[in-house]
Amino acid sequence: MEEQSIQVELSTAKKEKPQTDQLEFGRTFTDHMFVMDYSVTDGWHNAKILPYQPISVDPAAMIFHYGQSVFEGLKAFRTPSGEVQLFRPRKNFERMNKSNERLVIPPIDEDFVLQALKKLIEIDQDWVPDTEGTSLYIRPFVFATEPFLGVAPSHQYKFMIILSPVGSYYKEGINPVKIAVEDTYVRAVKGGTGEAKTGGNYASSLIAQEVVSKKGYTQVLWLDGVEKKYIEEVGSMNVFFKIDGEVVTPKLNGSILAGVTRDSVIQLLKHWDVPVVERRIGMQELADAHEAGLLEEAFGSGTAAVISPIGALGWNGKEYTINGGKTGEISKRIYDTITGIQYGKLEDPLNWVEPITSKAKVNQ
Ligand SMILES: *Cc1c(COP(=O)(O)O)cnc(C)c1O
Repeated sequence: MEEQSIQVELSTAKKEKPQTDQLEFGRTFTDHMFVMDYSVTDGWHNAKILPYQPISVDPAAMIFHYGQSVFEGLKAFRTPSGEVQLFRPRKNFERMNKSNERLVIPPIDEDFVLQALKKLIEIDQDWVPDTEGTSLYIRPFVFATEPFLGVAPSHQYKFMIILSPVGSYYKEGINPVKIAVEDTYVRAVKGGTGEAKTGGNYASSLIAQEVVSKKGYTQVLWLDGVEKKYIEEVGSMNVFFKIDGEVVTPKLNGSILAGVTRDSVIQLLKHWDVPVVERRIGMQELADAHEAGLLEEAFGSGTAAVISPIGALGWNGKEYTINGGKTGEISKRIYDTITGIQYGKLEDPLNWVEPITSKAKVNQ
């Protein structure tokens, strides 16, 4: 692909930055955004960094009608020496292209969008907060813009990146959550879009949380969509269990989203020589392990929280308390290590962090 240049228009009015202890997830956005367009004749073109602003989209744009879109989520972190670094960003753009393929969206140039992201963060670097546990959340997304109501893949798209400073996920320390095993709704099925990071998966899963939150649960544990027996994910996170000294996580099966955090947890455990297995896990097997006193820990993994310990599982009218409702040892160790690496406070033995330096050509 021919190297594109990025046109930059800087904002003249800088927004006021919120206090870092008052940041809510995903509510505040930085001064700039990245945008580029796709057309069949020009491919991806018109790459620009612009002042953050509303965009104009035709009401007939296909995204509004048939949901052809993909998104990503990753973070930039401020190190103790003041530098800004990314955590495994290439994995996110690789995954975006896998999602794009599933949604029949043309591929992006992964190297180019990573350069564009670095340039954007460089421009908005003052927005990367520096207090404990805070970071800059990065949301790349792509959507169909062709004004057409026929059901077919769009011929036009927009790719954008917006940035949002986020506060600490665990302001009051890590708190295990109560999870209900979902037996009515399903998140995804093999052959569907569960493997792709696309908005429709979220739209269809909102109702489950809505129902269980009324019963005092934070999220749901999703079972497979066919037999409703095998564990898939927790909320919008991947899920891990420690059973009799071994860490297990559902094997990627075509309906589970391949989390970057999931992969990092697996790699880290292998690096530590802690037994870790990817395999099918039945809900009944998990309940039996609990009865036998062998279910030692459970936690979700994802970019927002890194690790979210599960203190109790509600299933079939019973409540299974895990590790006395407290954060387990391995959960804590993984959390401390991954966040330590992300913030540049620990060694990075697996080469996960990427400093922000710009190689993008800039035409101002
Ligand atoms: C994004 C996502 C995850 C977690 O992925 P990370 O790359 O670790 O943030 C897990 N499950 C679903 C359904 C997701 O959309």
